[in-house]
Amino acid sequence: MTNSVSIETLNDAHFLWENVLLNLSNKIRPHNFDMWLRPIVCRSLIEDELVLEAPNLYIKEWFEDNYLPIVLEELQQVTQKTFKISFEIDSQETSLPLSENATRETEPPSVGTNATSSSAASAPFHFEIHSRYLFDSFVVGPSNQLAHAAARAVADLPASKYNPLFIYGGVGLGKTHLLCAIGSAIKEKKANAKIAYISSEKFMNEYINHLRTNTIDEFRHRYRVECDILLMDDIQFIAGKDRTQDEFFHTFNALYDSSRQIVLTADKYPREIPDLEDRLRTRFQWGLIADIQQPDLETRVAILKKKSSMDHISIDDDVALLLATHIKSNIRELEGSLIRLAAIASLKNVPITLEFASSTLKDFFNQSASHINIDIIQKEVARFFNIKISDLKNARRHKLISYPRQIAMYLSRKMTSSSFPEIGQRFGGKDHTTVISACKKIEKLLNSDASLRSTLDTIEKQLSL
Ligand code: ADP
Ligand code: MG
Repeated sequence: MTNSVSIETLNDAHFLWENVLLNLSNKIRPHNFDMWLRPIVCRSLIEDELVLEAPNLYIKEWFEDNYLPIVLEELQQVTQKTFKISFEIDSQETSLPLSENATRETEPPSVGTNATSSSAASAPFHFEIHSRYLFDSFVVGPSNQLAHAAARAVADLPASKYNPLFIYGGVGLGKTHLLCAIGSAIKEKKANAKIAYISSEKFMNEYINHLRTNTIDEFRHRYRVECDILLMDDIQFIAGKDRTQDEFFHTFNALYDSSRQIVLTADKYPREIPDLEDRLRTRFQWGLIADIQQPDLETRVAILKKKSSMDHISIDDDVALLLATHIKSNIRELEGSLIRLAAIASLKNVPITLEFASSTLKDFFNQSASHINIDIIQKEVARFFNIKISDLKNARRHKLISYPRQIAMYLSRKMTSSSFPEIGQRFGGKDHTTVISACKKIEKLLNSDASLRSTLDTIEKQLSL
């Protein structure tokens, strides 16, 4: 069965695609989502054919092999129609990236940067100002004010106050936004500033390609000598990639020694990034480390209002409050819910009333509502700390085990309705007083230990996906 849909404008097609992406972002692990789905954009929708564009052949093929069925299914669910999908490929990028020490599955190519192809080392620096990612469109609240103030200070006077600036926080909380805002603000003041804005994966892929083609000097010249400002997103990806870390270490030193600004983002505090070399870890702490936490309700509402006015979507305060009350941990998701509402309202040609919003988003809220139980928490905590689930349940008192165990107990109490004795039972039959003291200890530490806050943030976010 094939039907055409009454989507008339490209804008509607974009909305539809964003809507599908939003739903899938809840079903696919965030890293995979960011790598394989986020870079794909909608080009057109003609009758029943949705034309997508992938940044390169590699991503297209990977998408088709792994995600096409689930995307088609999602499209059908959202619209109740059957679609075909075809692809265009960004003509500039067709080469397959290599990975340093892993297979295609575990080391996908980079996404989400506006640096160009693998031969970018010889290209001029080209930082594109992205109108959505400016300081003006960033809502400041208690959760992000330090990171924001530091980013502004860096943009005002690069390499004077905080060098490097290291911004960390969970998925979808505005790290890339701030990083781009710094680049844009500098570019606005100084159009010829040589700003390298690049994800650490892209850096790795470029590095490998230059090794392969014996043009490493060109690469080094670009990042160590030519560039004025290095904005590197998601530095955690180079952890464990020894040669890339080494290359980055020398890049860092060259830039730092000649007083050029470095800004890094990561999903964790430097100390929490596994397999990151100590000499990098130390350097990341030379300047300022600023975290971004989950925003409070007022900030979430303010962000929704800002986004809706930017996108010319008209929503009332009560609708904004409804969305912000339900979606707490991820601003990308919050934004996605707004786009989803607007998409469906536009397809049905109805205004976004409170009633419409709550009925439309019911499934979405249910999906993101708690499916979390103690098993899932134990699994995630064990994965995060790289220990066995059985370690959480045994009696070992070594700190490497007892600390994750206390965290898992604390999260079980916080995120499920289980009682202390029940939790004790599920951690290998421990007494309820053990659980209580674990929870108390973690609560107390939370007041003073930023890296613990970041750890919990990351795990909770992972759990709520
Ligand atoms: P991260 O890089 O931390 O995963 P992003 O910077 O990509 O997150 O942010 C996800 C989305 O949320 C972006 O569209 C961004 O504009 C938006 N966003 C995050 N924080 C804010 C904020 N404080 N004000 C406005 N928009 C925000
Ligand atoms: Mg990001």
